Amino acid sequence: MKLLEYQAKALFEKYDIAIQKGVVIDAAGDEKIRAADLRFPVVIKAQVQTGGRGKAGGVKFAETPEEAAKLCGEMLGMDIRGFTAKELLVVEKKDIAKEWYLSIMLDRYSKSPLLIFSPLGGMDIEETARTNPEKIAKVPIDPIRGVQDYTISYAMDKTGADRRYKDGLKEVVEKLYRMFFDYYTMLVEINPLAIDDEGRLIALDGKVEVDDNALPFLPDITAFRDKLQEDPQVIEARNVNFLFIPIEDEGNIAVMSNGSGMLMSCIDLISKKGMKVHAALDLGGGATAERIAEAVRIMLGRPKIDTVFICIFGGITRCDEVARGAVIAMRANEAADKHLILRMEGTNKEEAAKIVAESNLPITVAEGIPNSVEAMYRLKNGKGA
Ligand code: GDP
Ligand code: MN
Repeated sequence: MKLLEYQAKALFEKYDIAIQKGVVIDAAGDEKIRAADLRFPVVIKAQVQTGGRGKAGGVKFAETPEEAAKLCGEMLGMDIRGFTAKELLVVEKKDIAKEWYLSIMLDRYSKSPLLIFSPLGGMDIEETARTNPEKIAKVPIDPIRGVQDYTISYAMDKTGADRRYKDGLKEVVEKLYRMFFDYYTMLVEINPLAIDDEGRLIALDGKVEVDDNALPFLPDITAFRDKLQEDPQVIEARNVNFLFIPIEDEGNIAVMSNGSGMLMSCIDLISKKGMKVHAALDLGGGATAERIAEAVRIMLGRPKIDTVFICIFGGITRCDEVARGAVIAMRANEAADKHLILRMEGTNKEEAAKIVAESNLPITVAEGIPNSVEAMYRLKNGKGA
């Protein structure tokens, strides 16, 4: 789950990482800005779950409360790379001498947290990565030893950063590193980490990505979710404990399976055939007919989906339960032009095929994944199943 800037900064504050004084607003007008008693000029920032806001017009400066109120009116509801700014963060503008880049991410290659640092941070960090790769240091942090003096020295020396700020940087990295672990994050980023005239380090921006699987342990992060822009089907599926994964918006196939590995194999084969998957859903183990019906209903409810592919390896999950669930959902479905392809192997497979055959619904039972994908392809190309 990607947090909004002010949510990330609420965590920074908890770890005593310096941030600017500010206020979050969700309606036009200047009362809330005045009430916050901010020193002008201020920065007004669209709160959306995407970076690059500065370049997309989502970060503006205002000299007076009147100007701020006017800009807020313009910025509320604006679209930034597909996300709507429902809230704005208004902060006191900081005079800064330098903009650094700092992040910690989970690195699968080194199997450890990876510190990424650059003294050339700010809006052009991607450009820096292209043109001055030597100005970006990537340093794995040994999870047993943690952040060491040499971790910071290496990052700074490699990139030619001013060593006067070493203690300050080390302190921020240590705090960020604790947060990285405590909150089961996959990424924590401060860009820019600014240095003000007095040489203090302050986080002007914040990006935090939390592992969704840890949300049950993180009530304070789960509480942030209400403010995020989420796909309604993701929420609907989550409410009944299914993991719904949007894939390609222009796709029109839904894939459901009991296990993420098989889901990925199915998606691969479908893509290889030149077809596009709209969404995937992991049914987990031991789903009942009612649960299957619920999952199929969620998929059929999405206008873009015209084909649902269910691929089941029946062990704990019984094939007849899957077939019964699929039939319930297809029978209740009003749009007649949707087709379901069912591939089942294992427990009660024959009984399942019988249930489907007797239903007289547009459900095709296929043997094996390649045949199922073939059937889907023929169906989509008007050659019947
Ligand atoms: P992003 O474009 O989504 O990463 O949004 P940021 O919060 O990083 O803001 C973009 C840029 O605006 C930063 O890189 C800074 O150059 C500038 N900026 C943001 N806040 C301030 C501030 O308080 N003072 C100054 N001088 N510049 C700021
Ligand atoms: Mn930024």
